[in-house]
Amino acid sequence: MMDLSHALMLGATSLLLLTLLYREWRYRQLQRKNLAMLQHVGQAQRTLTEHGRELRGLFDQAAISVIVFDRYDHKVCYANDLALESFGVSSQDQLTTEVMYRPDAWADAPYSLHDFEGWLGKAGKLGVQRFEWKAPGAEGHPVWLDATLAATVFDGQQALMLTGINVSERKISQSTDWMRNRAMVAMTGERPLSATLDLIVAMYQFSAPQARCGIMVLDSDNQVLNWGTGAGFPEPFHSGLQGLPVRYGAATCGTAASIRGRVVTEDIAKDERWGRYRDLAQAAGVQSCWSEPILGTGGEVLGTFAVYHNSPWTPGEDDMETLTGPLYLASLAIERHQSRESLKRLVAAEKSIRQISVKLQSLDADSTDSGVQEVMKFLCEYLHIAQAYAFVRDPVNAIYQANHCWPPVVLGADDEPLAMTQDELSGCLATISANNHCTLHRDQSEDSDELLDLLMEDEQAESVLMVPVIVEDRIDGLLVFCATDSHHRWEALEINTATPIAALIGSALHRKSLVQSLVHQALHDRLTGLFNRGKLEDQLRQEIHRASRYGNEFSLILFDVDHFKHVNDRFGHNAGDDVLVEVARQLKDNVRSADMVGRWGGEEFLVVLPETNLAAAGEVAETLRQHISRQSFPIPGGAITVSAGVTAFLPGEGAQDLIKRADDALYRAKEAGRNRIKMSA
Ligand code: GH3
Ligand code: MG
Ligand code: MG
Repeated sequence: MMDLSHALMLGATSLLLLTLLYREWRYRQLQRKNLAMLQHVGQAQRTLTEHGRELRGLFDQAAISVIVFDRYDHKVCYANDLALESFGVSSQDQLTTEVMYRPDAWADAPYSLHDFEGWLGKAGKLGVQRFEWKAPGAEGHPVWLDATLAATVFDGQQALMLTGINVSERKISQSTDWMRNRAMVAMTGERPLSATLDLIVAMYQFSAPQARCGIMVLDSDNQVLNWGTGAGFPEPFHSGLQGLPVRYGAATCGTAASIRGRVVTEDIAKDERWGRYRDLAQAAGVQSCWSEPILGTGGEVLGTFAVYHNSPWTPGEDDMETLTGPLYLASLAIERHQSRESLKRLVAAEKSIRQISVKLQSLDADSTDSGVQEVMKFLCEYLHIAQAYAFVRDPVNAIYQANHCWPPVVLGADDEPLAMTQDELSGCLATISANNHCTLHRDQSEDSDELLDLLMEDEQAESVLMVPVIVEDRIDGLLVFCATDSHHRWEALEINTATPIAALIGSALHRKSLVQSLVHQALHDRLTGLFNRGKLEDQLRQEIHRASRYGNEFSLILFDVDHFKHVNDRFGHNAGDDVLVEVARQLKDNVRSADMVGRWGGEEFLVVLPETNLAAAGEVAETLRQHISRQSFPIPGGAITVSAGVTAFLPGEGAQDLIKRADDALYRAKEAGRNRIKMSA
C-alpha cells in the first residue's frame, strides 16, 4: 500500500517538476521572442526616422513646395524652403499662425480657409485632393501652386502632405492673355476709352502687382495730357496732374511726351522736374515714376504710360519687356478711340452739311440773308468758333465787305461795314487759289497780325480760317472764321465742313442776286432803269381799284419828248438814248417819293400821282416841263423840251379810258406848239 502511495507521490512530483520545467522553457522562449521583436521595432523606428530624415533632405532640395500637416490637428509639421518662400514666411510656426490660420490670410484667394480645411478633411478620408492655390509670395508677388493633398505617414505619424508645383508663369500668361482679349473686345465695342485702358493697366499690374499705373492721353490740341485711367490714385494727385503740359520739366510724363522717349524718375524727391507736383506725389505715397510715351502708327505721341512705385525704383530689362504688350495695346486703344470719335464727328458733320444744304437751297430771295445768318451761327457753335463773317466781293471798289456775321456785330466804330481791300488780302487769296483755304496765325507776319486785329473788336483773334465763296469759278466772297484761343489748330474736319458750306452759301447768295435781277428786269426798263410799261399798268390798276373802293383821287401825266426824231436823225441813235436816260433821271429826281415814274414807250414817260387832283397834277407837270426845258442835255445845243397831257381819274373809268384822255391832252399840247402841258377835262 505504502509502495502504491509512494509511487503515486513520486509520479505527481515528477509531473509538477516537468510542468515547471516546461513553463520555464516556454517563458524563456517567449522572452527571447519578445527581445527579438523589440529589436525589430527598434530597428523599424530607426529606419523610419532615417526615412523621415531622408525625405526632409529630399524635399528641401526639391523644385516643388512641400508642406506636411498633422493629420488630426492640421498644424504644419514640416515645410520645405520653397514652400516657405511661396508663402513669404521663414518658419513653419509662421506658416501655421500667420498664413494658414490668420483670419485675413485668404482674403485675396478665390477660396476660403473653410475650403482649405475641407480639403484637409477630404484628403484624410477620401484620398488625394487636387486644387490650384494662390500663395501670397514674397514682396507682393503671388505664387500660383498646382497643389496635391494626400494622406501619408511622416516621421512615423499619420499626416497629410501638400505638394505644389509653381505654375505662376503659366497663370500670369493665361491671365494676361485673358485680359488682353478682354481689352481687345472692349476696344471693338462701344465701351469708353477709360474702361479699355483700365483693363490694359490691370494686365500689366498682374505681372507687377507692386506697381501703380496711370495712362495719360494727349489732348486734341496737343498741348496737355489728361488722365485716360489712373483710378488707383487719390483725388488730389489725380486732379493735380490733370492737364499736365507737354514740355520738358513737367514731371516725368510731360517730359516723356515732349521728348517722345522713356523717362525714369528713380526718386521723385530728387527730381527737379517734379517741382510743383512733388507734394502731391508724396501725399499719394508715390516715390518713383517710369514713363513711356505711347506712340501712334505715324510715330506721333498719343499719351504716356506711367508706372509708379511707393519707393525709389528703376525698371529692369524684364519690366520693360513686360510693358511692351500693354503699351502697344494702349496705343491701339487710343488710336481706335480717336478714329471712332472723328468718324462720329464726320458723320455728324456730313449730316449737318446735308441739312444746311437743303436749307440753303430752299431759301427764297427774301429769306436768304436770315438763312445765311443762321448757318453762320450754326458753324460758330458747331466748330466752337468765336466769330464768323461772310465777306462779299465788291468788284467796283476792289474790296471784300462783310455782309453777314455771327455774332452780329458787323458795323465798326465808324458805322461802316467791315471791309478788307483786295490788296490786304492778296496773300490770302493766292493761298486760297492754291489750297482752297487759308489759315493765319498771330505772330506769323505783320500783315497777318493787321488782318487779325481788324477782324475782332473786343477780343483778339488769334487765328483765322478763310474759305472761298466761289461763284461761277470766281472767288466772289470769303467765309472767315476767327478763333480766340492761341495755337488753334484748324483741323481737316473743320476745313472740310466749312468749305462745302461756303460753296452752298455762295450759291444761295448768287441765286438771290439772280432772282433779284430777274425781278428787276421784269419790272424795269432796260435803258432808263425806270419802271416799265407792264409795271405802270399794274400800278394803274391798283390805283383805280383803290380809288374806286375808297374814293381816293389820283392823276396821270403823260410826257412826250418834242421832235425826238430829229435828235436821232441829227445826232444818232446813241445820242438819242443818252437823252432818254437823262430825261428819265430828271423826271425821277424831281417827283415826290410817292409818285411813280415809268417809261410808257419810245420817248413817252408816264407819271402816276396818288392822292393828287387834276389841278395839283397840272402844277407838277408844269414844274417838270419847265425844269426839263432848263436842263442841258448831252447833245449839241443841249436843249430838249417835253409836252405833257394831264388827267385825273374819273370814277367808273378804266385804265384805257384814262390813258386815252391823257394821250388826247398830250396830242393837244403838241398841236398847240409843243413844250407845254394840256389838262384833260
Ligand atoms: P413829236 O414832237 O411829235 O413827238 O415828234 P417826234 O419826232 O418826237 O415823234 P415821233 O413819234 O415821230 O418820233 C419818235 C421817235 O423816237 C421815233 C423813234 O425812232 C424814236 N425812238 C423811240 N424809241 C427810241 C429809243 O429807245 N431810242 C432812240 N434813240 N430813239 C427812239
Ligand atoms: Mg411819241
Ligand atoms: Mg415825240
